[in-house]
Amino acid sequence: KDFRNKVKPNWCPGCGDFSVQAAIQRAAANVGLEPDQLAVISGIGCSGRISGYINAYGFHGVHGRVLPIAQGVKMANRDVTVIASGGDGDGFAIGMGHTVHAIRRNINITYIVMDNQIYGLTKGQTSPRSDVGFKTKSTPSGSVESALNVMEMALTAGATFVAQSFSSDLKELTALIEKGINHNGFSLINVFSPCVTFNKVNTYDWFKENLTKLSDLEGYDPQNRMVAMQTLMEHNGLVTGLIYQNDKQPSYQDLIAGYDEKPLADQDLTIDEGKFKELVGEFM
Ligand code: SF4
Repeated sequence: KDFRNKVKPNWCPGCGDFSVQAAIQRAAANVGLEPDQLAVISGIGCSGRISGYINAYGFHGVHGRVLPIAQGVKMANRDVTVIASGGDGDGFAIGMGHTVHAIRRNINITYIVMDNQIYGLTKGQTSPRSDVGFKTKSTPSGSVESALNVMEMALTAGATFVAQSFSSDLKELTALIEKGINHNGFSLINVFSPCVTFNKVNTYDWFKENLTKLSDLEGYDPQNRMVAMQTLMEHNGLVTGLIYQNDKQPSYQDLIAGYDEKPLADQDLTIDEGKFKELVGEFM
């Protein structure tokens, strides 16, 4: 169960994405997966390289399209565990339409977002997660747009599993990924993953000072959506842990008629010529 491969990541030393990679590898081993039972699908951005750094099936897709690919993989082969991953620009800007609909569709995959509040690969522009006043090359006088609160958005969109973590808390992050993999439905895990090269505001120290662990809040109940929303609002989204889980709602696969049949990946897709002509005859 070794999810390491020989490819050396070319992330900057200190980048938060290293820990996310380690957490995925540990979580996959801890839940008992073999490398050929896991598919890691990624989008574009520094974090998108992660699919090439894990010993599993991998697909590095195009910008913002990680979720259509990941959902397709899962629908074609329910026996494979699917982890989708990418950055905040990938998932919450160009890919936002897919993110909202994947949340409400509730296909059984885990989406891990490496949220560094900036575009790193293109050398530092403001992202949908950057705070008001954030200065970058694209907003030299400071951003005037408010940051998207993705955890609140996910709750509003009908998410059944919403969690957040910090890349330097490997123990918590690994445990949350394990929970996400075991959740029967779409699990969204947003990870504060500092970009040490271009984001000099939201640093490791900044997160250590500003994050609150939900496990430190007495009596916090992740099954109560109202409390989850209220807690996020009170803490301006800066909490870590399992924010909300509804394990009673069936997943998309549970609700789709005929999905219990053999996975598409295992079916004989040879097309009988007579049947083909019959099917397309009216279009010929
Ligand atoms: Fe990580 Fe930022 Fe370097 Fe990209 S530019 S690898 S996000 S530290």
